[in-house]
Amino acid sequence: MTITDRTASELLALQAAGDVSARAITDAFLAVIREREPTVQAFVQVDEAAARQQAEAVDAKRRAGAPLGPLAGVPVAVKDVLCTRGVRTTCSSRMLADYVPPYDAHVIERLRAADAVLIGKTNLDEFAMGSSTENSAFQVTRNPWDSTRIPGGSSGGSAAAVAAREAPLSLGTDTGGSIRQPASHCGIVGVKPTYGRVSRYGLVAFANSLDQIGPFARTVTDAARLLAVIAGHDARDSTSVDQSVPAYTQSLDQPLQNLRIGIPQEFLKTGLDAEVEAAVRAALREYQAQGATLVDVTLPHAAHHAIAVYYIVATAEASSNLARYDGMHFGHRTADKGDLIATMSRSRTEGFGPEVQRRIMLGTYALSSGYYDAYYLQAMKVRRLIAEEFATAFTQCDIIASPTSPTAAFPIGEKTADPLTMYLSDIYTISANLAGIPGVSLPCGFTSNGLPIGLQLLAPPFAEERLFRSARMYEAATDWHTRRPPL
Ligand code: GLN
Repeated sequence: MTITDRTASELLALQAAGDVSARAITDAFLAVIREREPTVQAFVQVDEAAARQQAEAVDAKRRAGAPLGPLAGVPVAVKDVLCTRGVRTTCSSRMLADYVPPYDAHVIERLRAADAVLIGKTNLDEFAMGSSTENSAFQVTRNPWDSTRIPGGSSGGSAAAVAAREAPLSLGTDTGGSIRQPASHCGIVGVKPTYGRVSRYGLVAFANSLDQIGPFARTVTDAARLLAVIAGHDARDSTSVDQSVPAYTQSLDQPLQNLRIGIPQEFLKTGLDAEVEAAVRAALREYQAQGATLVDVTLPHAAHHAIAVYYIVATAEASSNLARYDGMHFGHRTADKGDLIATMSRSRTEGFGPEVQRRIMLGTYALSSGYYDAYYLQAMKVRRLIAEEFATAFTQCDIIASPTSPTAAFPIGEKTADPLTMYLSDIYTISANLAGIPGVSLPCGFTSNGLPIGLQLLAPPFAEERLFRSARMYEAATDWHTRRPPL
């Protein structure tokens, strides 16, 4: 088996046994990046020399017998919305095309402390707004399973990089599905942790009350390893929760007895592709074969109002967050300067793409006086109902299962002219962000034309360990995660 087909767990074991060096691992992934990037275009930036230097430092530590971190010598790709000290962080926006942060995000500090090798920054929909990476100001990332299709989004670069074997692990962010949906479309594992589980310090904010950082990997075990490294309290994010992080990987292979899986009836009705539905139903039968019981649950507000609520709350927060990019305090400044207002307005027109501008306008409208009560306040009330609905459902079941996305990856260009259909593709993922609960997407089959299908599992707040164990039960009984894209 070639090095780049190995999981992170295997790469750690190989190094510990002295069979391969961190430098050789990094070189192998850099070679795959060079070969596949012309097609996949997952990365906005790869600094080969810097990656090699980090790998060599790990090898030197190992030779000296110094203690090594839990991801020693394992390459990790990082969504370009996470601040990296001295390394450009663009959010795939012209607005921040030249921004070099003077500090590392909390998760980057954790990766460095874990002796991981930061191999590159990955492409996304501008400011994480989108479901396809088509909103990147720089490039459209391709789905490794079919390069005429989108990889999902907004963390499409991070998902595609892992699926294409350009990195064994990556980090994404999930505000309304941006980890789970691209994981589903690329045939890999993606985890959105509980709100507050991972510090958002150094994450360029899209919608603060919804954003969470989480791992991508090809296996549940690898995803658990990466979450264990980045999770935990950080005083610099006031919403980071001070709760201990379980040793996820230790319990992973213990199947859950008498698992009760909630099936939201409303989620299996309209708009769901027949092949996706068949794959998800087959996955549920596998769980039943392992002794799980299926329980009907009902999530009417999540099913019928989550998209509307999300596009008010998320755009309201975004309009406020993005106000700082005015070409004066932060961000691109136009060459065509006029008075203060004209300069700001031109800078923002040039710096932001059409989807970001649309969201700023929607959010500003929802927050404006006279409309605030009718839109923002009302949305916050329904958001509360959605969270309560989940809490009630979890009194009847341990986890909730559904498709991750109603269809497999769609062709590039198919939905760009129609934002509303694009928004509807997040129907199953968005309510977890509104409720703050954790979720995972894992591979559960393929369509007849060879595109991956994802199963979504959701759990109550801080029940990531339960999520990993139940995901692993299915993974251990199936081989979807071992398939390779035809690159
Ligand atoms: N696709 C959703 C949106 O466009 C979610 C994005 C995300 O999770 N960052 O907002």
